Amino acid sequence: ELYNKVLELKGNIRVFCRCRPLNSEEIAAGASLAIDFESAKDGELTVISNGAPKKTFRFDAVFGPQAEQADVFQDTAPFATSVLDGYNVCIFAYGQTGTGKTFTMEGTKEARGVNFRTLEELFHVINERQKLYRYEISVSALEVYNEQIRDLLASGSQQSTMAKRLEIRQVGEGMHHVPGLVEAHVNNMNEVWEVLQTGSNARAVGSTNANEHSSRSHCIHCVMVKGENLLNGECTKSKLWLVDLAGSERVAKTDVLGERLKETQNINRSLSALGDVISALATKSSHIPFRNSKLTHLLQDSLGGDSKTLMFVQISPNENDLGETLCSLNFASRVR
Ligand code: ADP
Ligand code: MG
Repeated sequence: ELYNKVLELKGNIRVFCRCRPLNSEEIAAGASLAIDFESAKDGELTVISNGAPKKTFRFDAVFGPQAEQADVFQDTAPFATSVLDGYNVCIFAYGQTGTGKTFTMEGTKEARGVNFRTLEELFHVINERQKLYRYEISVSALEVYNEQIRDLLASGSQQSTMAKRLEIRQVGEGMHHVPGLVEAHVNNMNEVWEVLQTGSNARAVGSTNANEHSSRSHCIHCVMVKGENLLNGECTKSKLWLVDLAGSERVAKTDVLGERLKETQNINRSLSALGDVISALATKSSHIPFRNSKLTHLLQDSLGGDSKTLMFVQISPNENDLGETLCSLNFASRVR
């Protein structure tokens, strides 16, 4: 109740900042910290440079290096359950490669992330509501790479017989759909885990360097929820998008040529299109430029209106990354 009021006041867009710990190589190399966690106030984050405070940013929540996956999910769970009340929800992880976007969203087997925990929470609430509502859940997994959509759940034969490109089609007032995209029905968490694994494994297929590929593509899960109120027969349809964005780092212009240049331009274009859309929504602008990238076009029905958006801005604590950290924090301040 209270939570939804807070969301309304903030125009349904929230930004959480998460900073990863220094890793063992950085510690061994004697890296200095660019973030002041000692004197951090609730929701505030101060960037330090040469030992002096440089700039302070405010977010809806700040998670420092000690924050566990469960702590992060505690504040994320209300977004997950909103989708069962019929709201469309988008959750993004934004930031430089290596700052923990995949750790936050996908997590590891031992420290599962937002994707798994969200579905777990959905099934938990569905179970609690079973006398009042009936729900059906299905999941799609896709990747946007170089402005092209690839289905991560299509089997090998489907991939090749469907050599046709997946495209976004408008299917009625404000409704968008990707015809041919696999929608896997899931009834329990075992099935969810399998789907998430299939998607994750498919990401690496066909790329010579899996890490590099994943840092240059957007990995997207769409959870589709159909709900029926058993008392009055009212039906709802809603979507939850879970998006592990491509790395936001700028690449020196001299370093990129040919294919790589096109790739970089596409990433920059889609990330700035996302920033433009969210900040246009936050300022209630009359024109929202959804069509400027595949990503925003795909998510069009789920951004704006009474949809809810959560952006994780992932950062590094290392002073060597300060330039990229400031870019990410400035991006996040713009969308908030
Ligand atoms: P990205 O997806 O942004 O490129 P990753 O999620 O792959 O970054 O994270 C890079 C490395 O840092 C991984 O080994 C990951 O496990 C680790 N890592 C990231 N965030 C955290 C965290 N909050 N706590 C512990 N390890 C983390
Ligand atoms: Mg990643």
